Amino acid sequence: MEKVILIKYGELSTKKDNINFFLTKLKDNISYVLKDEDASIDYDLGRMFIHTSNIDRVLNKVKNIFGIHEINICYIIESISFSEVEEEVVNLLKGKEFSTFKVESKRSNKKINTTSVELSKNMGAYILKNIPNLKVDVNKPELLLNIEYRINNTLVYFEKVKGLGGYPVGTLGKGLLMLSGGIDSPVAGYMAIKRGVKIEAIYFESPPHTSQEAKNKVISLARKLAIYNQEINLHVINFTKIQEEIYKNIPHEYLITIMRRMMYRISAIIAGRRNCKILINGESIGQVASQTLTSMRAINEVVKLPVIRPLACFDKLDIITLAKQIDTYETSILPFEDCCTIFVPKHPVINPVREKCEEYEKLIPYEELIYTAIKNHEVLKIGPKEENAYEDLL
Ligand code: ATP
Ligand code: MG
Repeated sequence: MEKVILIKYGELSTKKDNINFFLTKLKDNISYVLKDEDASIDYDLGRMFIHTSNIDRVLNKVKNIFGIHEINICYIIESISFSEVEEEVVNLLKGKEFSTFKVESKRSNKKINTTSVELSKNMGAYILKNIPNLKVDVNKPELLLNIEYRINNTLVYFEKVKGLGGYPVGTLGKGLLMLSGGIDSPVAGYMAIKRGVKIEAIYFESPPHTSQEAKNKVISLARKLAIYNQEINLHVINFTKIQEEIYKNIPHEYLITIMRRMMYRISAIIAGRRNCKILINGESIGQVASQTLTSMRAINEVVKLPVIRPLACFDKLDIITLAKQIDTYETSILPFEDCCTIFVPKHPVINPVREKCEEYEKLIPYEELIYTAIKNHEVLKIGPKEENAYEDLL
């Protein structure tokens, strides 16, 4: 009897014709995080199995992979004979501490004439006969025993870990996340990764108005997201000149609107170069002046590619709860200035007008400035494991 990790797919099973594409990707993603482990993977349309000598460590790595609905520690009994299975199950249960249990059976081997309910009853009766002081409790059992009768073997499992759900990263192509050091954008990134989008990230810095600490904070956030994304290319754009030109030449109520139009333009160009099909950001309707509907429209119209805002309709408190869950919150609230906060006008326009944006933008040589910023941009490869290269930075 082999002890393995059993993976259930959840939403992936609803994919019909292209399920193999999703499963191959899931397998590749699992192989990637297990590349230093002694582990092998095989799968069919319903289940994936990881064979390994170190179940605990592998389980720990696998639980952060999207596309997995449930992970079970599973025993494969190489027999389809009921009596052999009963005997093995009782041996397995003998060492366990529990007083109530329930059996749930599945038959993928349709040659078995007995119904699943009867199979469960029979197994339950056998267990009661062979292990003393146990009771069946169908509502709240201490131990839920799952048995799957398959064509060549039988699976038994009773320990499960909930998976993260979602789609395997990369199945939906790539997106570019506008990552600031704030609370919202890392959460937005996490949600996009969960839907199978592999992300790259872009960060606008304005040294010396923004500090190295602010940048390190973004690097730390990228590293937290990289746990789910394998690794993240972080594009760092020096935004100082653009921001200063805007500040010097453009009426202050339009500072943020124009600044964000520039960020969008640059992001769209980087996205195009990196084959990212969408932009992702942490905007949320009504949160600040630049996130009124009119503002979003005035900003959005400088780019053609879709802009996905996973948090558009979330309350800030719900976003904070998510940020705590994914462990980005404590980093996000570190008090380092971001480029937006430094150049915030007293009275930002709430209903910016497109014609005015266009008129004001003529006051600065923005195409040239964008060209230079992109030409000089820096790319950092952030992995969850890059030898703690940045550990001392915060
Ligand atoms: P967050 O929204 O992440 O908490 P924030 O509140 O500082 O950060 P907003 O002013 O709400 O940012 O900006 C909305 C979105 O624009 C951010 O969620 C982020 O996606 C993007 N953004 C803002 N500033 C930057 C930046 N310096 N670099 C990259 N993206 C940025
Ligand atoms: Mg925000």
